[in-house]
Amino acid sequence: MTALEEFRTKARAWLDENCPQSIKGPGGVPVGGKKLAVKDVDAKRWLDLCAGKGYTVPMWPKQYGGAGLSKDEYLILLEEMRRINARSPLQGMGIGLIGPTLNEFGTADQKQRHLPPIARGEIRWCQGYSEPNAGSDLASLQTRAVAKEDNFIINGQKIWTSGADRSDWMFCLARTDPNAPNHEGISLLLLDMDQPRVTTRPIRLISGDSPFCETFFDNTIARKDDLVGPKNRSWAIGKRLLQHERSGIRILMGGAVKPARLENPFLQLIKTYGADSALTNQIISYRWSGVSRDGLENLDRWLGQMKIRPAC
Ligand SMILES: Cc1cc2nc3c(=O)[nH]c(=O)nc-3n(C[C@H](O)[C@H](O)[C@H](O)COP(=O)(O)OP(=O)(O)OC[C@H]3O[C@@H](n4cnc5c(N)ncnc54)[C@H](O)[C@@H]3O)c2cc1C
Repeated sequence: MTALEEFRTKARAWLDENCPQSIKGPGGVPVGGKKLAVKDVDAKRWLDLCAGKGYTVPMWPKQYGGAGLSKDEYLILLEEMRRINARSPLQGMGIGLIGPTLNEFGTADQKQRHLPPIARGEIRWCQGYSEPNAGSDLASLQTRAVAKEDNFIINGQKIWTSGADRSDWMFCLARTDPNAPNHEGISLLLLDMDQPRVTTRPIRLISGDSPFCETFFDNTIARKDDLVGPKNRSWAIGKRLLQHERSGIRILMGGAVKPARLENPFLQLIKTYGADSALTNQIISYRWSGVSRDGLENLDRWLGQMKIRPAC
């Protein structure tokens, strides 16, 4: 038996022994953090068991809460999870975005302080990138961070901060040199959201949901030892984090359950939104304008996630 075959046998046995029945199939996946308790007992048990085994972040080093798996071992683990249709134990920006970035660029101290709590699902992170006048043109961001003694003092505003009101920590791009060219005066800072100098204001969507916030900094503090990479030179690291966001690593880690393909997307849309609804007509007109079947399914899934089930 090769080492990989042996790994598969052990992983399969562990999953068969430990994965609760209710975790096999579609359902919720915890995002972690101190502010939202995981109410589902099985999901909590699955999270804790996987965290103990290093399976919330299988490829991270063991010392930071991972299982230290090679890429091949990780793919086998995913195959074995798919075999029993097991859901991921944990999802979110901690394991998907800032965790991999700290693994690559963080100091030893940053890794030791931040990675194990992420792996255990104890801390939820949010992303402080977009600003009212810095969206696609992110490098024009104006939030200022000024070094003072052991800290950076941050002032400014972010927008579209997903889950900011339910997050414990933020990774934040701020301008630390206003005189440098746009891309060269930016630093990536980690800050505790539980301080009086941070205010979050949920943005209410027409669905009634508030998945994002405006976030305001009023002399907010980030410790100097929570600067990721060199001061004024964090732009490349901030972009690297966005690669993790785009690359699908989050999808790999965020759910082993195979997405259900719609039998007939048109029929599904009509069933969900009604044959005469403005939304159905609009989506079907997108279809005729060249959106692929996958695009249509993604749109439908997205609308579902945003809880847009209107009677329109
Ligand atoms: C579901 C969701 C979750 C998000 N969560 C977060 C989060 O947690 N944290 C965070 O920081 N941000 C978040 N964002 C914000 C997202 O990153 C922004 O939408 C993005 O930065 C775009 O900015 P904007 O909305 O201001 O659009 P704009 O930059 O104003 O762009 C508007 C439109 O103009 C187009 N456009 C812009 N510039 C040009 C140009 N030069 N030439 C031609 N066309 C152009 C764009 O393609 C777009 O269609 C989230 C967004 C979504 C949709």
